[in-house]
Amino acid sequence: MSPHLIILSYFVAMLVVVCGSGWYVERQRRRFEPERSDDSIFRCGKCRYVYTDDHGVDRSRCPQCGASNEVFRFY
Ligand SMILES: [Zn+2]
Repeated sequence: MSPHLIILSYFVAMLVVVCGSGWYVERQRRRFEPERSDDSIFRCGKCRYVYTDDHGVDRSRCPQCGASNEVFRFY
């Protein structure tokens, strides 16, 4: 086995390890990251319960106490 063949196989092995771990990390990240949701966030003015409802609705009823709430906006 010639020296440059050993070096070449070493580099190929390193490339496989780097690409493999990059692929693995990306796969793990996608698995644990929450999917983006278009739902609106509501916070109940009566009981302070935070919940989500479909995007596009102006008012939503609190699942805890039944009070009607407007979309919660982050400033
Ligand atoms: Zn409530």
